[in-house]
Amino acid sequence: MASDDKPAILLLAGDGIGPEIVTQARRVLEAFIKQGDFVATISDAQVGGVAWLEEGDPLPEHVLAQAKEADAILLGAVGAPRFDLEAPRDKRPEVALLRLRKELDLFANLRPAKCFKALVDASSLKPELVQGLDLLIVRELSAGVYFGKPRGEEKMPDGSSRWVDTQAYSEAEIVRITDVAFELARQRRAVLHSADKANVMETGYFWRKIVSERHKKKFSEVTLNHILADNCAMQLVREPKQFDIILTDNLFGDLLSDVAAMLTGSLGMLASASLGTRDEKSGRQNALYEPVHGSAPDIAGKGIANPLATILSLAMMLRISFEREDLASRVENAVETALMRGLRTADIAISEKPISSEAMGDAIIAEL
Ligand code: NAD
Repeated sequence: MASDDKPAILLLAGDGIGPEIVTQARRVLEAFIKQGDFVATISDAQVGGVAWLEEGDPLPEHVLAQAKEADAILLGAVGAPRFDLEAPRDKRPEVALLRLRKELDLFANLRPAKCFKALVDASSLKPELVQGLDLLIVRELSAGVYFGKPRGEEKMPDGSSRWVDTQAYSEAEIVRITDVAFELARQRRAVLHSADKANVMETGYFWRKIVSERHKKKFSEVTLNHILADNCAMQLVREPKQFDIILTDNLFGDLLSDVAAMLTGSLGMLASASLGTRDEKSGRQNALYEPVHGSAPDIAGKGIANPLATILSLAMMLRISFEREDLASRVENAVETALMRGLRTADIAISEKPISSEAMGDAIIAEL
């Protein structure tokens, strides 16, 4: 919370198209503030390649400190091909993102896949399969095979190498992500699918056991379905509307959320939230919101990037961090209306004349 008790929102624009899209989301936020619908203190800081160039660190300590203080963070994107070549491995732009997730303990990644009416034809699936689609992937983000030890190269007795990753989950790690998913299920259609590989993995077997225990103990009013992760991938493209919330681990969540994302047809429309633990006393919770896409270096600086994923990430922030369902719905409805009016940036245009990032921002603000 800022010193004047206004909620503190930190904007981290990052690299590539980051500044262009975050600017449009900031305009939406400022419109609410100007209309007297919302109060907040907005500040900006640099992360990613741009921070490495200026300060020698993709996540300078003072920015990390600001991030820890913020009530909510909106991030654009980090990364660009030039940094892959120029920056040392431990100073790559992506390190900023991984470190933010770790330092803020952002263990719950929420990725909605919602198909806007106006974009039904942009999906690679038949319109009747995706029309009205509105599902949410809840992915465990801070443990599992991306973090498990031992990890790395091992020398074999014959001198050859082998490489190891370790899939590991503690009971506490499974419980906390499960509880987040069940709480969300209560607010939605009260149906939850938990995807694992209980048939072949130890972690999968215990994942399933613990999810069932939490269900029985605290969330029995929610319908729980266990599904094998490979079947879940298949069902997502066969009949996606059977799902409302899919709870899964870090690795399967990475894959399944990309499958779900593509059902909606466009990367430029997909928002996400990464959440920490909510402090029971103060109610405070670390939260970072960002579009699912990257820094799109191929179109950076041209003013043509689609800002809607970032604006929809802002809507998630208003709903989750500030409990302003009213403002979140207004943003989402404004997006739907702009699309219905045929307004499209180049990435989602079919026959329409593409408009700029700024013109899309103007349209959303006008709809608000
Ligand atoms: P990308 O998402 O940046 O781009 C993929 C394609 O989608 C490109 O053709 C791009 O022009 C287009 N695109 C993406 N977002 C768009 C938008 N808002 N409007 C219009 N078109 C859009 O993925 P990539 O090319 O694989 O990665 C580029 C860089 O981004 C890499 O350095 C990668 O590491 C980084 N990256 C960062 C994040 C993040 O910050 N969270 C996520 C993914 C990739």
